[in-house]
Amino acid sequence: MDETLRGIAGSLRETSRPELRKDPIVGRWVIIATDRAKRPVTLRHEPLPPTALCPFCEGNEEHTPHEILAYRRPGTRPDQPGWRVRVVPNKFPALQIEGDLNKRGEGIYDKMNGVGAHEVILECPFHEYSLTKLSEENVREILWVYRDRLVDLKKDPRLVYGMVFKNVGAAAGASLEHSHSQLIVTPIVPINVWEEMSGSLEFFNYRGRCIYCDMIHQELASEKRIVLDTPNFVSFAPYASRFPFGTWILPKNHNSHFENIQKTEVDELGTVLKTILLKLESALDKPAYNYIIHTSPFDTQALPHYHWHIEVIPRLTRVAGFEWGTGFYINPVPPEQAAGFLRETEVDLTTRPKR
Ligand SMILES: [Zn+2]
Ligand SMILES: [Zn+2]
Ligand SMILES: [Zn+2]
Repeated sequence: MDETLRGIAGSLRETSRPELRKDPIVGRWVIIATDRAKRPVTLRHEPLPPTALCPFCEGNEEHTPHEILAYRRPGTRPDQPGWRVRVVPNKFPALQIEGDLNKRGEGIYDKMNGVGAHEVILECPFHEYSLTKLSEENVREILWVYRDRLVDLKKDPRLVYGMVFKNVGAAAGASLEHSHSQLIVTPIVPINVWEEMSGSLEFFNYRGRCIYCDMIHQELASEKRIVLDTPNFVSFAPYASRFPFGTWILPKNHNSHFENIQKTEVDELGTVLKTILLKLESALDKPAYNYIIHTSPFDTQALPHYHWHIEVIPRLTRVAGFEWGTGFYINPVPPEQAAGFLRETEVDLTTRPKR
């Protein structure tokens, strides 16, 4: 968050709750949420400032809102030590779970209440900044928590889409260094997902096949952009990657909904995700990065045209005027070369957690 913005946060007139407003020209929704301006950490420069007290560490549970879910030792109580992975509401949420959507118009404009969920997944009880330092078992539990939260939240008829994402490093939007990811659940389908859904549906109507399955087959056959190939997953640099070293992870078996993932797949995905992140950290000297899970909207059954995937985006370039103005990105690293580099990067999966 910009320091200037933080400066004026105190003078912002409080809106009682977040609001969703729709751009009437392109149909993109925006969340207006004044709480977000009050987030405590200023992040103009890397690295993240060392925090005296980390609210995400075990023993500091009273510094977070009440937990929603935790995988914890038998006999330990909620909001007490003894957990391995813990989910809490975001203290400065972009959306709030209470209330009705109250969809309404304002002249030519559309808006609704900012109803949704904004949760933080604390990935380990000890102060560790990188998911790659966690055990594979720990990473599997994190993935399983994502699944559990999506399964639970999709029961709420007001909510339509759940986006799991991770910000690492100030340049990627992180405000605390303790390894964590987030889940934002929205009452509308976000436009980037909508574009993927409608593009893949168009391909399906034309060819009768899932475009992601077709990509997997072609990438495995050509091998040029493959980063990692395991029995149930494949990772490659997408052909038209917008970002240098952008890397996708997809299940080989067609599945439109991440939350339908099987236990054996989660076990393998834990290793795959850790390996890809280790490769990026090693090849690019611990870059800031984001990863996001693209999955299908809650209110859909199994879809033949959409295929869930993880997109990993190292933040090596800044999105500037041209990209903002056009949606047209300049990528200085050909995906074939990025993939080759990552493929060759050897990693050691046996990194030991702090305890
Ligand atoms: Zn911590
Ligand atoms: Zn598919
Ligand atoms: Zn995607």
